[in-house]
Amino acid sequence: MTEGSIIKVSGPLVVAGGMREANLFDVVRIGEAGLIGEIIEMHGDKASIQVYEETAGLGFGDRVVSTGEPLSVELGPGLLTNIFDGIQRPLEAIFGKYGSNITRGISEPALNREKLWHFVPCVKRGDAVVSGDIVGIVEETELVLHKIMVPAGVSGTIEEIAEGDFTVEQTVCRIASESGPRALSLMSKWPVRRARAYAKKLAPEEPMITGQRVIDSMFPIAKGGTACVPGPFGSGKTVVQHQLAKWSNVDLVVYIGCGERGNEMTDVLREFPELRDPHTGHSIMKRTVLIANTSDMPVAAREASIYTGITIAEYFRDMGYSVAVIADSSSRWAEALREMSGRLEEMPGEEGYPAYLTSRLAQFYERAGRVICLGTDKREGTLSAIGAVSPQGGDLSEPVTQATLRIVKVFWGLEAGLAYRRHFPAIHWLNSYSLYKDRLEPWFREHVGRGFSEAVAEAMRLLQEESELDEIVKLVGADALSPRERLTLEAARSVREDFLQQNAFDPYDSYTPLDKQYRLLCLILSYYAKSLAAVEKGADVQALADMKVRERIGRAKSASDDTYRSDFEAIEKELDDEIETILQA
Ligand code: ADP
Repeated sequence: MTEGSIIKVSGPLVVAGGMREANLFDVVRIGEAGLIGEIIEMHGDKASIQVYEETAGLGFGDRVVSTGEPLSVELGPGLLTNIFDGIQRPLEAIFGKYGSNITRGISEPALNREKLWHFVPCVKRGDAVVSGDIVGIVEETELVLHKIMVPAGVSGTIEEIAEGDFTVEQTVCRIASESGPRALSLMSKWPVRRARAYAKKLAPEEPMITGQRVIDSMFPIAKGGTACVPGPFGSGKTVVQHQLAKWSNVDLVVYIGCGERGNEMTDVLREFPELRDPHTGHSIMKRTVLIANTSDMPVAAREASIYTGITIAEYFRDMGYSVAVIADSSSRWAEALREMSGRLEEMPGEEGYPAYLTSRLAQFYERAGRVICLGTDKREGTLSAIGAVSPQGGDLSEPVTQATLRIVKVFWGLEAGLAYRRHFPAIHWLNSYSLYKDRLEPWFREHVGRGFSEAVAEAMRLLQEESELDEIVKLVGADALSPRERLTLEAARSVREDFLQQNAFDPYDSYTPLDKQYRLLCLILSYYAKSLAAVEKGADVQALADMKVRERIGRAKSASDDTYRSDFEAIEKELDDEIETILQA
């Protein structure tokens, strides 16, 4: 164990001397209180340490002890429903024990050591196992079976395994491995900065379905994909993230509240336990892990929270689950990197962010993906990573947004202007994109409908044309438009208002199944196509714009999931009748 002493304290950065034997990224305990920090730079015997707790009161000569271990997380039953801070201290357990004021240096194990879990083996004595094989399961919550896996690098024969109730530390299985006997408990550890191993990475090919029309239809994210959602204040970022956490067809969500303002995190802490999993009615916490930096934690903890979160997400991916990790917000993490970099007196890059900003962000998003997990059953797991970005004043040209955009494949551009006009979700259709669209096309074709992608493309074309026509209208007035162009504007408005706008608080509108999304879009496009045909036959454009059926189209999104098909057919029929009437007038 290396022991040195403090030479310098600069905010969350401590420089300690006498640390020659320590390693980069070792966890250290500092001072009397044993504050937790991590070595982020070594120069000779000097270690620069980022400290995850308030450093006030530390001084020259205070003791610094390296634990000789990298920052690691505990992985095992008890992760779900729990709320951890950036270095995986269980907040609820700490509140219960020490009250709401977390004193510095508290070490409380991440996973409860006393709780008993019922373990049911899936293999028996004499079975050969390799890394990643599932030896047994624990029902962690009603929604998630926790699979106990043979650790990476271990293979051999099961010597002993039994059903029973165990704490996370007790041995549940013994393996005669090639490198000697190995005892497995329900809990394992993993260093957070290292990506967990898998057998093979595959290209994503299935969408993560969110029930949000603008996302699923227009800018879909693949399971195993990456997305970024920049949200200026009040643009509905929180609502989008809640909707994703609530509705996405993933098995688990890891939500990282990374240094956001205290009150936003409080919202999450208050609201998440109340959100219900729509498919089962259970609290979504039963499939959620929350990582919340308390507001009194210094900036360095933001970085730790990102790594802690993604490592926990990888662990569940390795069980063969689809996991979504939502980081809110990566801007706060980048600011922490900037502050540490400044204190380390590194050469600053753009706007003072370190030159390695992009590579750090990339390391996070690269851990997303669709993989074949370790293990003989070749199960598949996916990890989708969604990062919120909070650019100052909504300025997307700032370095963090730009760096993120170079990495992620989906961009949901929330716009304050749309939110101001109460167009929700305020994801702008012209500047958002999804690079998964082509790849997911076959899936949509097979599972939603042959014409789905064409319908979406047609709707996008209408919106594009609308923005061009708007310019003309601004310059020379609406009278300059041809009847076809006027209808295009009407149809584009319908796409925006009747399709893209989605009320998260309306029971039937909050989630739209893909088939309903497709049919709703077809209804709107049908209005456009049939009106165009009627204009050709001499119908009056104003009359087509004023048709009563349009109100019904506007309300169509709130049709119940049980009746929408027949409702939409009835609307289509009314559309035909009304156009017929206009033509006969
Ligand atoms: P932010 O987190 O970006 O500051 P919020 O997510 O809190 O913004 O959204 C601000 C307000 O906008 C919400 O309180 C809600 O009234 C409204 N809002 C946002 N998204 C939606 C939505 N999809 N449906 C209905 N209202 C929404």
